[in-house]
Amino acid sequence: MLVVMQQDASSEQIQRVVGVIEEMGYQARPIPGEQRMAIGVVGNDGPVDTSRVEGLPGVQEVISVSAPYKLVSREWRKQDTTIPLFNGTVIGGPNTVVMAGPCGVESEAQLLETAEAVAKAGATVLRGGAYKPRTSPYSYQGMGVEGLKLLAKARERFGLAVITEAIDLESLDAVEEYADIIQIGARNMQNFSLLRRAGKARKPVMLKRGLSATLKEWLLAAEYILAEGNEQVILCERGVRSFETYTRNMVDINAIPVIKQLSHLPIVADPSHGTGRRELVSPIARAAVAAGADGIMVEVHRDPTQAKSDGPQSLYPEQFRTMMGELERISAVMGKPLLTGSAIAPKGNRP
Ligand code: PEP
Ligand code: MN
Repeated sequence: MLVVMQQDASSEQIQRVVGVIEEMGYQARPIPGEQRMAIGVVGNDGPVDTSRVEGLPGVQEVISVSAPYKLVSREWRKQDTTIPLFNGTVIGGPNTVVMAGPCGVESEAQLLETAEAVAKAGATVLRGGAYKPRTSPYSYQGMGVEGLKLLAKARERFGLAVITEAIDLESLDAVEEYADIIQIGARNMQNFSLLRRAGKARKPVMLKRGLSATLKEWLLAAEYILAEGNEQVILCERGVRSFETYTRNMVDINAIPVIKQLSHLPIVADPSHGTGRRELVSPIARAAVAAGADGIMVEVHRDPTQAKSDGPQSLYPEQFRTMMGELERISAVMGKPLLTGSAIAPKGNRP
């Protein structure tokens, strides 16, 4: 339920509404708007009796939120959520954003060379896992804090914002310290204690879709983060399990316009994990932008033949440059021009 106050409602009237909502056993979330204040009701698992609030002074209307997720829903918030980063990148704003970098941070030279290549080609956000959630315990597990330090070094050098994955509560503390965006991976989409912790973080969170999660499950997972107070959440469609074996996953292009309809949160697509094959990355990235995605996350490696993880889906720097040119054209047609490093602050330093 969402209580919309009249434009001239006094703070006493707002307080009274909050008090009544709390007396009913729910939590009240004041949502200041440009024109008027709204008060959201959370904590209910079913319909709320609106009659006690409807007649209170200063109340203009009471809107029921029918979706099981509240804070992430379009009913709750009409305007798109935007995620501004220190270097001028805004995710969910008027531009298409590209996040690129290796699957995993492997060494200083590997990261810095790859970061330089993606920055030169126009990317404004650097990706790279320091903690890798691998299917096999014998596969490369990442460099940990040393990897985070290298990401911070690349940020200083190239002005790129940094996104990197946290795989558990311990790594989330470290990632929160070093990164500009905390990534929660597909395998952890329903790790509810991790989601709650991410909800308390002071950094934006990118939540990837689970391996076989429905859109409802995914949005409810995002709701965990917002319910703890962190509204800076980005969703990432990275493909779901299907019966097909030629590709690693099946990118659900449908999800992009559907999420835009159901939620105010930005959505990006990851065609690298979505396809598992580098020759498919660019076509699917183009399709995602054409379907309305706010951005793209792709894996790029200075030498994919040497990658410790996900080499077959990693682009060569040259392929990445070509892809950026293609995305520039598609995003212009979509009225959401590609954001490139040259369009924002030339060299960002962390505030
Ligand atoms: C990743 O982005 O490095 C990753 C592990 O992706 P996902 O969680 O989508 O499998
Ligand atoms: Mn990967």
